[in-house]
Amino acid sequence: MTTVEEVAPNVFRASGTDVNVVILRDGGDLTLIDGGYPGDVAAVENAIRSLGRRPEDVRAMLLTHAHVDHMGALVDFHRRFGIPVLTDPVEVAHARRDYLEQATPKDFLPMLHRRGVLPWLLRIARVGATKSVSVDDAVAFTDGVPLDVPGAPVPVPTHGHTSGHSVFHLPQHGVLVTGDALITAHPLSKIRGPQLLPEVFDHGHGDTLGALENLAVLDVGTIVPGHGPTAFLPIADAVEKAQTQTREHRHGH
Ligand SMILES: [Zn+2]
Repeated sequence: MTTVEEVAPNVFRASGTDVNVVILRDGGDLTLIDGGYPGDVAAVENAIRSLGRRPEDVRAMLLTHAHVDHMGALVDFHRRFGIPVLTDPVEVAHARRDYLEQATPKDFLPMLHRRGVLPWLLRIARVGATKSVSVDDAVAFTDGVPLDVPGAPVPVPTHGHTSGHSVFHLPQHGVLVTGDALITAHPLSKIRGPQLLPEVFDHGHGDTLGALENLAVLDVGTIVPGHGPTAFLPIADAVEKAQTQTREHRHGH
């Protein structure tokens, strides 16, 4: 079953496997932001069809970052329908897999005794978490200006989680699609609410915590993260919560 949440007019959150997909609708045309795992193709397609549209109606696919849980299903749509993939100029090479900034199964071995970790690993393995995926011809967008795609999202760089991670602002709705720069829940996290991903997932050379400063200044009251439920609160409050929680956690309190 595919559930689709309309978080603002013509802005939808759909679910892949423990990961979110965002659909922007402008009349008959759609933009996808992130696409779930390779095995989430059917879930994404069902979400699109539940809006009365077809995958062929997707005009552009935006990528917050090139991890397999965000890029996976996009690869299939890109190949089948030739839909362009757009991402940060720095992330283009990561999407091409010139290098890989992603945790591998062995990174999770020290956590296997923890509740929920093994079931999560098995769940994501079934949807292709260990598959190698790439997009050879992702297009670099320009940060800070509305993109000429349905929904006109504005990319905001948040380099840190990966070297070229970015988020997408929908100023007309006060919505921010935060990818993995800021999440609200994760199977490997004990807390709920705005937070950073556990450190094991971060691979960029940037400063994940510092990247949030770019977001706190935005006029946003609805946060659609890469993982976890939609959060309805001012982004500045969410950033403060995530920073506080991270500092407490990393200092072992
Ligand atoms: Zn992710």
